[in-house]
Amino acid sequence: MNGDILNKFAETVLNIGVNLQENQGLEIICPVEKSDVAVALTETAYKMKAKTVNVRWDSESVKRLNYLNDSIDTLTDIPKWFIDSKNYLVKKGFCYVAIAAEDPSAFIGVPPEKLAAAAKARGKALKKFYDSVMSNGIRWCVVSVPTEKWAKKVFPASKNPEDDLGRLIAKTMRLDAENPVTEWEKHILNLNKHAEFLNSHNFEYLHFSNAIGTDFTVGLCDDHVWISAQEKAKDGVPFVANMPTEEVFTAPHRLKAEGTVKSAMPLCYEGQIIDGFSLTFKNGKVVDFSAEKGYDTLKHLINTDGGTKRLGEVALIGKNSPIAKSKVLFYNTLFDENASCHIALGEGYPTTVKESETLTKNDLKNKGLNDSIEHVDFMIGTPDLKIDGIKKDKTIVPVFRNGDWII
Ligand code: ZN
Ligand code: ZN
Repeated sequence: MNGDILNKFAETVLNIGVNLQENQGLEIICPVEKSDVAVALTETAYKMKAKTVNVRWDSESVKRLNYLNDSIDTLTDIPKWFIDSKNYLVKKGFCYVAIAAEDPSAFIGVPPEKLAAAAKARGKALKKFYDSVMSNGIRWCVVSVPTEKWAKKVFPASKNPEDDLGRLIAKTMRLDAENPVTEWEKHILNLNKHAEFLNSHNFEYLHFSNAIGTDFTVGLCDDHVWISAQEKAKDGVPFVANMPTEEVFTAPHRLKAEGTVKSAMPLCYEGQIIDGFSLTFKNGKVVDFSAEKGYDTLKHLINTDGGTKRLGEVALIGKNSPIAKSKVLFYNTLFDENASCHIALGEGYPTTVKESETLTKNDLKNKGLNDSIEHVDFMIGTPDLKIDGIKKDKTIVPVFRNGDWII
């Protein structure tokens, strides 16, 4: 990303993404090879009168060596200072920017049981922090920048894969516009229309079907609400948690999913690829699954805890979203999930249930919200996808035909 785009990136992420306020702290997690991005964000944050900026550097090469050399006991020993440092962010009202730019092949060769054990230990140790994130107790935003290894995977034949990926990311984030912040404001209003349509119908179930073999009915939580791009944090300040974002999403009922879903795209999970997979549900729970590639990784994911056998999100995206139209497979959920309807195994967002701030964990569970230490999206939208909404009185309303909205 060149200087001009990088500045626009920082301004958009901090104004629209986390919506950084005066005298507020900011934490950034950034790949160590992209220090220029952290510097640009830090500079912009101070221009916006941030109280302080912390950067936490991340290196997949080091992580890979840790995974290969450390014992499972060591990998699952999460130090208290690390847990405290995360809870500190919530307590002190920081904003949180995570730069996700994983190399999809980063952990090939690492035993999946090591990755699974480490992910589980991290999920458990940071449960309090993740719960705050999921319920908007902190304003957070996940964004991406191109890294060399990731870009090569996306554009293997390109001479300058990093530049190509950078341009594409800039386009999907609307940074090619004169004023990206205004473009985002328009985009947010547009997505709200789809959410309003779904909320006005208050469907009890959605039925998905397509030619590759998806035939699947999912029930929605009692008092669910469809959300798009912009949400309000607990402090009342609006923010956008994912950039780019094209989705409208809500909470499935943890006990209501029946039938089979087939994956429409490979899933990159913990640096490993799961592809050509299908899941069969009964009473909301995965009872059977298969995968052409990454079967063991999928098995570990599903068996992480009781909640990873059930669903925590259902999200709708038309096949004409700018990311879908690019026809590029990013091997990165932040982008791929915005090209295709998806569902997620694991924890549901409390914010997708009406007045969740007044409800206890148990109330949310009774309404059907799923709880887990994981939340993993996978894509199920194909160009021929058909979705019907089914209301409480059994009326059927067409929502998608041929992979796109029909409203
Ligand atoms: Zn989603
Ligand atoms: Zn998700």
